Amino acid sequence: MIDGRTQLVGLIGWPVEHSLSPVMHNAAFQALGLPWCYVPLPVPPGKVEAAVRGIAALGFRGVNVTIPHKRAVIPVLDRLAPDAAALGAVNTVAVAREDGGQVTLIGHNTDAEGFIRALRRAGRDPTGVRAVILGAGGAARAAVFALRRAGAAEVVVLNRTLSVAQALVADLEAVPLPDGGTPGGRLVALSLTPETVVESARAADLLVNATPLGMWPDVQSSPWPDGVPVPSHLTVYDLVYNPPQTRLLEQARRSGAQAVGGLGMLVEQGALALEIWTGKPAPVEVMTRAYQRALRRYRCSGS
Ligand code: NAP
Repeated sequence: MIDGRTQLVGLIGWPVEHSLSPVMHNAAFQALGLPWCYVPLPVPPGKVEAAVRGIAALGFRGVNVTIPHKRAVIPVLDRLAPDAAALGAVNTVAVAREDGGQVTLIGHNTDAEGFIRALRRAGRDPTGVRAVILGAGGAARAAVFALRRAGAAEVVVLNRTLSVAQALVADLEAVPLPDGGTPGGRLVALSLTPETVVESARAADLLVNATPLGMWPDVQSSPWPDGVPVPSHLTVYDLVYNPPQTRLLEQARRSGAQAVGGLGMLVEQGALALEIWTGKPAPVEVMTRAYQRALRRYRCSGS
């Protein structure tokens, strides 16, 4: 029930009408018995500053931020949490209010921690791992950063456009590891071809797909070449979550490799945002079930 006590959070992006985040967060608020409501907020390019100021003025507790505003929102904020600063992208804004009414806008990025939490939940410890990341966009950047911080021995980044992978590696090598990070993990950038994918995967423990290959509606595509078995020792982590069972995950399972879907990361990054806003532990199981039900119902591209 929405009434005078209702606390608002939401999602700013363009477009946002297909997002399933409202379903996931509102299910969590209900399970926690919190009078909170999560609403989609379509914000066209160029309007992000006005939108964020408006959110603060309207008493929102925070927002998630999605494409195309993850970088554009940064100049509007008062400060960035360490992950957002390291990744140069914000997916969660918290609105902090002092007793005197002073508002502070804090930018967070929960993708890296969400990536690692989901990997650990799947039973894979990232410490000492040799990883191959396919893609060099925002999701890949979060994954490489998270693996390096978690003490991966080596991370090889394969991308269609080599210069983008090289820039990612150079950027992240320049980011000092916070306390707890194990220095010395090697970062390597290579071109993404069927040959480099197979060759790199043979020498790795973990293969992460951070490209849109396999994503609905292009469900027949996969970054793994046809007719080549996936090494059975490998954990294959596909960040694509729609569909939950991608062609890459099917190829992995058929070869006896461990297959981990992208829904876990999606839910964990949302759970971390909810914890930042409310200060309460998120009901991850409830959020997962709500998202799965909504995906089955809508078959859309939720974020
Ligand atoms: P992005 O920033 O647009 O980056 C896309 C990356 O994929 C780029 O490196 C691009 O290479 C590569 N790519 C695109 N089309 C390709 C193709 N046909 N063949 C080979 N490489 C291709 O996107 P993103 O935000 O990182 O998202 C990437 C994927 O991760 C999407 O499927 C998204 O849904 C998923 N994701 C999942 C989560 C989660 O929580 N599970 C979170 C974020 C993203 P170039 O540099 O050559 O263009």
